[in-house]
Amino acid sequence: MTGAAPRIGIVGSGIAGLRAAQSVLAHETGARITVFGDEAHRTYNRPGLTKKRYPPSAGLGAALAEDLRVAGAETGALDWRLGTRVEAADLRDGVLHLSTGGTFAYDGLVVASGVRPRTTTAGGDEECARHVHRTLRGLDDAHSLHRELHRRESVTIAGAGFVACELASLAAEYGCDVVMLEARGHGPFEGVLGGDVARALARWVTAHGVTLLTGGAAEELLCDRSGRPPGGGRPAPPPGAASERPLFIEAIGSVPNVEWLDGNGLDLSDGIRVDAHMRVPGREGVFAAGDVARYPDPWGAENPTRVEFWKNAIDTGTIAGKALASSLGHEARTPGIAYFPSTVTEMFGLRVQIAGNPRNADSVEIVRGDLERPGDGVLVAYLREGVNVGAAYLDEGARFNRLYIELLRSLRAR
Ligand SMILES: Cc1cc2nc3c(=O)[nH]c(=O)nc-3n(C[C@H](O)[C@H](O)[C@H](O)COP(=O)(O)OP(=O)(O)OC[C@H]3O[C@@H](n4cnc5c(N)ncnc54)[C@H](O)[C@@H]3O)c2cc1C
Repeated sequence: MTGAAPRIGIVGSGIAGLRAAQSVLAHETGARITVFGDEAHRTYNRPGLTKKRYPPSAGLGAALAEDLRVAGAETGALDWRLGTRVEAADLRDGVLHLSTGGTFAYDGLVVASGVRPRTTTAGGDEECARHVHRTLRGLDDAHSLHRELHRRESVTIAGAGFVACELASLAAEYGCDVVMLEARGHGPFEGVLGGDVARALARWVTAHGVTLLTGGAAEELLCDRSGRPPGGGRPAPPPGAASERPLFIEAIGSVPNVEWLDGNGLDLSDGIRVDAHMRVPGREGVFAAGDVARYPDPWGAENPTRVEFWKNAIDTGTIAGKALASSLGHEARTPGIAYFPSTVTEMFGLRVQIAGNPRNADSVEIVRGDLERPGDGVLVAYLREGVNVGAAYLDEGARFNRLYIELLRSLRAR
């Protein structure tokens, strides 16, 4: 230890980092906790970036920040180092190297650095000869995207996952013609909910005016930021001023932010590997939580897994904080990971609720409704060896809420 009160470093000012800090403080009230965040903002509600609609006003930034407030983020009990990136870590000596040029010595560390959007190239060029490229992860991205979508008449979105679908819905409501490109599947959420539900969702977005291109048709329109058409050839001639080129949003998955941990001999193959108590094996006093953590998931088909859900970041952040407090000698009960995965999203008025782990299923059963009419309510059970391991509920209203809750009660982890 470096003094009487333990010094805790938390890398990442997102919800996992905040909940870990709160959880440490609940047991070790004297802990000196420093939260490093490379964004300029304290913890905010990241899922909210795409949920609400805003008029194109000068007050957009303030309205977003106000709507995205997270309970507890205003606390004065933490030392917030915002706009400060942790560039590297020496886990053996317990030292972080900061973008400011300084260092930070810690007694305990929580890795909560989340993920960033995957892009088609390693380079971050925002303009190629054919498009203006954008991604969405943070508050600043959202601020400029809301503004830009108001200004544009059309947008192309690569991907058909949660962020892509919410963006498509948002863009259409702001008056854009929307093209979605899904090169790998038949429609939205195929990897999670399977082909039949994906096709139903594809019909839904198409019925709401989206041009959804899949397979080869999608591939033809993908852009790797070189400006060259897929399959090679010369870059297309620039169609006007860069800012007027067609808007191309990449929402094709994410990459864990782990590079700053390089050189410590850790397994960083897909996020940072931890045990069921969010401890980094072989590194005393080091824990991880949230989107970046790969842990033995009781609900996981493959183990260990990473889960990019808001609730998961809260649950694992809390566990990491408890485990850290326990490592400092406190009697924090650390029961290990046990939680109920669930999330909800909305596209063109259709609420899609997902719980458990549908990916783990070997069969699918439509409990109620008809996938031809998802707006009227469809309840889907995902089974493995006859046991319910996942559930999905699609509805414009709340017709089968009671049944959905019953279905949730029947869900079992592996
Ligand atoms: C547009 C959008 C919509 C979403 N909607 C939903 C939804 O409806 N439901 C749902 O369950 N989930 C949703 N999610 C996912 C959810 O937001 C995440 O699961 C959750 O925010 C993860 O929290 P986290 O704290 O682990 O990571 P993050 O929130 O990513 O926080 C990590 C922070 O660490 C910072 N950081 C990274 N590296 C460093 C470094 N080296 N030094 C300092 N700081 C660093 C990052 O910039 C970031 O601020 C959505 C995500 C997005 C982007």
